[in-house]
Amino acid sequence: MAKRKFKAESQKLLDMVINSIYSQREVFLRELISNASDAIDKIYYKALTDDSLTFDQSSYYIKLIPNKDKRTLTVIDTGIGMTKEELENNLGVIAKSGSHTFKSENEIKDGHDIIGQFGVGFYAAFMVADKVTVLTKSIDSEEGYKWVSQGSDGYTITPIEREEVGTEIILEIKENEDEENYDEFLDEFKLKQIVKKYSDFIRYPIKMDVTES
Ligand code: ADP
Ligand code: MG
Repeated sequence: MAKRKFKAESQKLLDMVINSIYSQREVFLRELISNASDAIDKIYYKALTDDSLTFDQSSYYIKLIPNKDKRTLTVIDTGIGMTKEELENNLGVIAKSGSHTFKSENEIKDGHDIIGQFGVGFYAAFMVADKVTVLTKSIDSEEGYKWVSQGSDGYTITPIEREEVGTEIILEIKENEDEENYDEFLDEFKLKQIVKKYSDFIRYPIKMDVTES
């Protein structure tokens, strides 16, 4: 019983932290797109120093796939991907910002990104999703992995078959409640607006695929 109560409290705490930091739910997309862009930056930096890699601008992009029937929003990137250890260390720990370290090491100035310094960026996904699945394969790994979480309750990691390096994040968008409408996060035009509003400066193409089933 005690354990169950603790879990309920930590879910509440997570919700409080997320909701107090982010005044607008829609910024979850900015966080995921910024992570996708960071991941592409990493493969870009790696290509600069690794002769076996060539950086072909056209093969690096971010793609959004809203699916109203399945009630999912998928965010795909062709970035560096994550190893099993990186999934554990980076997505398993709240308030530890990896990109903050990466950015200061590489001297990228990114003054507006205070939220990123708290390292809850990725967790913003739980403002709009009941369940988040991450499919990924790192450039440094032979194997792909699937990370699944329903919030503060924890997560599971399992190996998967995956050819391509990069990451796919599948959000199972919440059902509407009395006054809360989540349908807009499945709507192509609303998503385009959100991208324009918060992610206009992203250096890589942000594509959209609309799937009907
Ligand atoms: P921050 O971006 O400030 O580090 P986040 O919570 O947004 O905090 O992300 C945590 C970490 O998870 C990132 O630093 C990165 O290492 C990893 N990560 C998240 N999304 C991706 C992605 N799409 N591709 C590769 N790594 C990712
Ligand atoms: Mg981030």
